[in-house]
Amino acid sequence: MTATAPITQDVHTVPRKLPEGPANLVGLTRAGLRDALIAAGTPEKQAKMRTGQIWQWIYHWGVRDFAAMTNLAKDYRALLARSFVIEVPEVVSRQVSADGTRKYLMRIAGGHEVETVYIPETDRGTLCISSQVGCTLTCSFCHTGTQKLVRNLTAGEIVGQIMVARDDLGEWPEPGEGMGERPRLISNIVLMGMGEPLYNFENVRDAMKIAMDGEGISLSRRRITLSTSGVVPEIARTAEEIGCMLAVSFHATTDEVRDRLVPINRKWNIATLLEALRAYPKLSNSERITFEYVMLKDVNDSDADARRLVRLIAGIPAKINLIPFNEWPGAPYERSDWSRIEAFADIIYKAGYASPIRTPRGEDIMAACGQLKSATERARKSRAEIAAETGLG
Ligand code: SAH
Ligand code: SF4
Repeated sequence: MTATAPITQDVHTVPRKLPEGPANLVGLTRAGLRDALIAAGTPEKQAKMRTGQIWQWIYHWGVRDFAAMTNLAKDYRALLARSFVIEVPEVVSRQVSADGTRKYLMRIAGGHEVETVYIPETDRGTLCISSQVGCTLTCSFCHTGTQKLVRNLTAGEIVGQIMVARDDLGEWPEPGEGMGERPRLISNIVLMGMGEPLYNFENVRDAMKIAMDGEGISLSRRRITLSTSGVVPEIARTAEEIGCMLAVSFHATTDEVRDRLVPINRKWNIATLLEALRAYPKLSNSERITFEYVMLKDVNDSDADARRLVRLIAGIPAKINLIPFNEWPGAPYERSDWSRIEAFADIIYKAGYASPIRTPRGEDIMAACGQLKSATERARKSRAEIAAETGLG
């Protein structure tokens, strides 16, 4: 890592060992699944039908054992079992907060760990999933940002987090149960866990395509929100290739402050980011971009900030999500006072924008936004590395 290449995607990526033994079917696109089945000996003429059947077993019924795929011939099931596995991350621990929030620590290949958080609300249930182990970026208020990027998650590990949470919540339908009979516990997905999803674009895209596929998990694209710190070149692709809702970690109203809070701003500043957001297509009038804004005492929470924010986003269909700062050990900031947060919200609301204040959830189990960090990953970024990555070195 040199100071001349301030922020790149792969700086800390450790080359992955190729998987040994049978290949995992979880995370393959439909086309990928079809190719894998043909390579294992499925006649080409049958491949499309077999793909559909196996897809439904995995993603509609939540089956992990080929022997349970009763509409396939016995010897074909045996062939599948010799060639493939259906594998999801392993749950290392599950903590349930006093407010019902559940935080899962999941182990993935290589012994790495990621966190996934389920947040039940009266009208919905949101699963917050991770896209990377650690993060290359170094937002100064974010706990994950103090942890090196260890590696990108595979598509299977990303969609696997949803499958594991469905296991735990008992959300898979029972045999014979029709579509839509069971209330959806996981009704929304947010890519707001560990990592920057747009620095793992293809795997995030493939995983979300699987989550949206109508013959499986079947979540509407409007119920999936991807949060980015502002990786401008990938924003248009997000609309074209995933089509989900977009949230952006805005957090400041001047480049001077945003450079400090969200260092990727040194690469793509506020004006460049807003230009990309203005171009983000929406399919209906009700679709808005979420501007996330973490409330940091005396840093970005003044009335002048609120007014500047409103001026900056003029013309963008937007809602502003105010996030009271969640503290973590050693954090260099404090949460703004409630009266300040309310005054800030009021200015935005009066300018015509929805300005919900995100109630901190699961704080007692360190499951709130920006508190996630896997305890096993001891490799911390050094000051020198942070300086180099943020271009301050
Ligand atoms: N990397 C992506 C998504 C993960 S972070 C991104 O940065 O957008 C999800 C949200 O939580 C982001 O808006 C992030 O800025 C915010 N966040 C990070 N640390 C936080 C903290 N300590 N308190 C409150 N919000 C935080
Ligand atoms: Fe990475 Fe997002 Fe945390 Fe910034 S806020 S360090 S981009 S996870």
